[in-house]
Order: sequence, then C-alpha cells, then structure tokens
Amino acid sequence: MSTILDDQTLDFNCPTCHQKISETVGRLNLGNYTCPSCGTVFDTTNFRRDTENVEREIEDALRQIGDIKINIQL
Ligand SMILES: [Zn+2]
Repeated sequence: MSTILDDQTLDFNCPTCHQKISETVGRLNLGNYTCPSCGTVFDTTNFRRDTENVEREIEDALRQIGDIKINIQL
C-alpha cells in the first residue's frame, strides 16, 4: 500500500547497537526491518499502525483545509 508518508525519511537509533539509521517510512512499512549495522531484525507492525493513524489525521486536516478554501470562495 502506497501512502503519503512513504517518501519521508526517518532518523532513529538502533535499540541494539545504537547506530544512527536513516530510512524511509515506505521501507519501514514493508514489514520486519533489519538493522544495516548489526543485523538485528525489528518488528515494524506497531510502527506501521502508528503511521497509518498519522496519515488519517493528515488526510482529515487536508480535507478541512479543502473545506476552508471552498468556504472562502465567493
Ligand atoms: Zn543495530
């Protein structure tokens, strides 16, 4: 599933080796993610659920912006 956050890059630290990792949301949402430094595999199920919630909020906000534009056009 392609989403509006897919191209956003996240910087985070591996909880195992503390190496800084830069990865796109789309890549993290594919499923389990393997740390490129130490090889630890992360379950990204919770991450995917959180990003889906954020996307819903963004989509709601965009809809509201759309409504405002419509309301101010005379
Ligand atoms: Zn690591």
